[in-house]
Amino acid sequence: MAEPMRTPGGGPRSLRRIVIVGGGTAGWMTAAALAHALRGNCRIDLVESEEIGSIGVGEATIPPIKLFNRSLGIDENAFVAATQGTFKLGIEFVDWTRKEQRYFHPFGQFGAEFDAVPLHHYWLRERARGDATPLQEYAMAWVAARNGKFERPLADRQRVQSTYDYAYHFDAALYAKYLRAYAEQRGVLRSEGKLVDVALRADDGFIQSVTLGSGAMLEGDLFIDCSGFRGLLIEGALQTGYEDWQHWLPCDRAVAVPCTHGCDPTPYTRATAHAAGWQWRIPLQHRMGNGHVYCSRFIGDDEAAQVLLDHLEGTPLAEPRFLRFSAGRRKQFWNRNCVAIGLAAGFMEPLESTSIHLIQSAVTRLLALFPDRDFDPITAQEFNRITHVEYERIRDFLILHYHATQRDDAPLWRYTRSMPIPHTLQYKIDHFRRHGRLVAENLELFQNPNWLAILTGQEVWPERYDPLVDLRNDVDAPRMLGSLRRVIAEAVQAMPTHRQYIERHCRARS
Ligand code: FAD
Repeated sequence: MAEPMRTPGGGPRSLRRIVIVGGGTAGWMTAAALAHALRGNCRIDLVESEEIGSIGVGEATIPPIKLFNRSLGIDENAFVAATQGTFKLGIEFVDWTRKEQRYFHPFGQFGAEFDAVPLHHYWLRERARGDATPLQEYAMAWVAARNGKFERPLADRQRVQSTYDYAYHFDAALYAKYLRAYAEQRGVLRSEGKLVDVALRADDGFIQSVTLGSGAMLEGDLFIDCSGFRGLLIEGALQTGYEDWQHWLPCDRAVAVPCTHGCDPTPYTRATAHAAGWQWRIPLQHRMGNGHVYCSRFIGDDEAAQVLLDHLEGTPLAEPRFLRFSAGRRKQFWNRNCVAIGLAAGFMEPLESTSIHLIQSAVTRLLALFPDRDFDPITAQEFNRITHVEYERIRDFLILHYHATQRDDAPLWRYTRSMPIPHTLQYKIDHFRRHGRLVAENLELFQNPNWLAILTGQEVWPERYDPLVDLRNDVDAPRMLGSLRRVIAEAVQAMPTHRQYIERHCRARS
């Protein structure tokens, strides 16, 4: 009897060949992670088209990306230098709650815990007694960001310098290039060309092969759709369906333009609300990334571009570039032998920089639920279950920014503040409003400190604080809060500036 075909080091049912369609951030992150994990025992092809290109935006990230890079053995300083990167301690939101109001969503926690009852309940009591100190003054990330300081946090949990976290801003095209070199060194085979056809197996509708314009055909066991908004495989070939969330997240367009720096790069992203959307400002080493995300129901493209140009801090470095999207997600992320990752899987606007993270978490989940050629449907079912929850809770978090606003100066804000919201979000708001409690679940990306930042930043005030606070009269909260502010201020004072830190450790070569 003939021996079953084996891949080098693989078992009889192991995948022999994976085809990734698309070479944007999603394609190359996926290729790099799979190449690292599969150790050359499964052929990996990646198809991309220079003529089509990639979306080219996606410059702000959130802290878990450090784990992704670390798991690949990427040196942080080399990576930041290669991508014109800077450091990000959080996001400053301007004019979201009402005009002239601003708040910060810091990475990390609010203060150091000094009691079993969360710190913000003590803060709420002091606030009720007349102490006007904003909660963010207890977040080291904010105090450092406000002062333009940066340094990596300490691991020692006794020190206040362990209470913050950070992520990066980088040039997305350079990040994809960096990961492409990494993946190709580990055996990923890149094919240049336009995909023109997808062949399905007659018996079960699984994808059998993809064909390029040149006539080249790539067969595979597993296909990963990283083709961007087009979703060539997951939608084009498999017609999986899309769940539209535009009634909750009505912004459907963006216009992006880079500009020169007006000042030293700040260690944070800024999101400024405008009448029909909001503007991002992302400082890189060599330029500032800017974009206006807007709702086409309430503003035209030309006017949206003008709003963006009117609010730039430096000189534009390119013509404005327009992008269209529709908030939502695929009905299934994993359908038959196809897994959609990146924009092909779904999109929620970049308000909290979650898209690159969703790529990372999809790849991590794919590896945790890695299939063999039997493709047991229970594996795809679990992948889809967790990914649905992940998308929906992020969706709720984003909706909160729009819904909990006092603005009524423009149709967008009047719509979002009065629109019906998902019951899962209403549940969280009710808990906070009634008792000051935060009820994020484990599977959620954004945890209690993140919800606390946005709820208090958007001025959703609780009716009461935790009743335990008044029963624990041995806790001298005013003194503890005061000393926390002092310790944070001293620690920040001793930090280098963001500019100095970059110069010392990771300055880009050009
Ligand atoms: P793409 O970059 O579109 O790549 C698609 C790939 O498929 C390309 O290589 C293309 O050549 C290839 N392709 C397509 N069709 C074919 C074909 N027929 N044949 C061959 N190849 C094909 N995310 C963040 O985390 N932070 C941010 O700050 C952020 N800002 C954003 C701002 C805006 C306005 C938008 C729209 C998105 C933003 N994102 C952000 C999301 C982020 O840009 C994407 O998640 C990320 O770039 C991944 O994109 P992708 O690789 O899925 O798709």
